Amino acid sequence: MKQDQPRPTPRAGIMDIEAYVPGKSTAPAGVTKVYKLSSNENPLGPSPKAIEAAREVAAKLDVYPDGTARRLREAIADVHGLNPANIICSNGSDEILGLLAQTYLAPGDEAVFTEHAFMVYKIYIQAAGAKPVAVKETDERADVDAILAAVTPKTRIVFLANPNNPTGTYVPFQEVRRLHAALPKNVLLVLDAAYAEYVRRNDYEAGVELAGSSENVVMTRTFSKLGLGGARIGWMYGPAHIVDAINRIRGPFNVNATAIEAGIAAIRDRAHIERSVAHNEKWLAWLSAELTGLGLRVTPSVGNFVLIHFPDDQKHSAAAADDYLSARGYILRRVTGYGFPNALRMSVGTEEANRGVVDALKTFLKS
Ligand SMILES: *Cc1c(COP(=O)(O)O)cnc(C)c1O
Repeated sequence: MKQDQPRPTPRAGIMDIEAYVPGKSTAPAGVTKVYKLSSNENPLGPSPKAIEAAREVAAKLDVYPDGTARRLREAIADVHGLNPANIICSNGSDEILGLLAQTYLAPGDEAVFTEHAFMVYKIYIQAAGAKPVAVKETDERADVDAILAAVTPKTRIVFLANPNNPTGTYVPFQEVRRLHAALPKNVLLVLDAAYAEYVRRNDYEAGVELAGSSENVVMTRTFSKLGLGGARIGWMYGPAHIVDAINRIRGPFNVNATAIEAGIAAIRDRAHIERSVAHNEKWLAWLSAELTGLGLRVTPSVGNFVLIHFPDDQKHSAAAADDYLSARGYILRRVTGYGFPNALRMSVGTEEANRGVVDALKTFLKS
């Protein structure tokens, strides 16, 4: 194509954005059994009740969904003890993170996140024309003082993934409160609690209280890590004025009918959630101990995944391990883009997958 011909041009900055690369889902040719451990999905699968609800709605797909997802918001509100008017549902929590950036950021503004934070923040900040400001972590954990030191008069949003992906580390709630107390009141604090259900720590809170009692805090959540990644259901809880602003720009039917029905069934299926969390608690501890026993450093995780660091020698690098595991059907996540060129993120899988990876790595490290 000739360069001198006029053609549509993206807004300034769009072409500087590096597109998000999702976890792989395929193994090399010839591998028959594939264990997808690259996207932190639920090894127990969707709630059987959600599957049933999705089947039922299939016959009514000619009808538009309720644009406010009222029944889904009410189910979420009921389970979490919230006011449904302060909830917005979205097409995955990714969408709500993007809407927050679009609503509160303009060119010249800054938004802060931590160096190994979930990558979509940077993408949405740049998409809004604002400046992404990444701050250092301490021991692969968000550092409240470093975040506060990065706040300037231009800062409009602080994104905090708690727990963070891909590290799996978390910020205790006293620290989150300290961060909030020290932030200027016009700075929005986004608490991304995508893994909240999996956290088993007394000093952790997802952010319900803070989002419910402040004018500048929202909490975002997702159904994706609990068995409905493919349905795309996320939600935000926050003050009325933020809900009002977001509702003005979100797509009028951003949550589809299948997602609404599957989501209502899934959140009411507490037994499935409890089984999923119990499975994770057991195998997260097992994996962390076994991998450490192999001489690999594992970042202490409270999520449904582990970040595994590999030795410095080329032969046993993360890239070599990834090839070795992929050839055996174990698909983990490369995290070079997250600032970890020599680590792999592994979702907690089924017993078979977990044992398989540990056995394979044992042989790999001896090779
Ligand atoms: C997976 C994830 C999300 C969002 O997932 P959706 O599928 O879009 O709901 C958000 N934040 C973090 C930290 C995640 O790991």
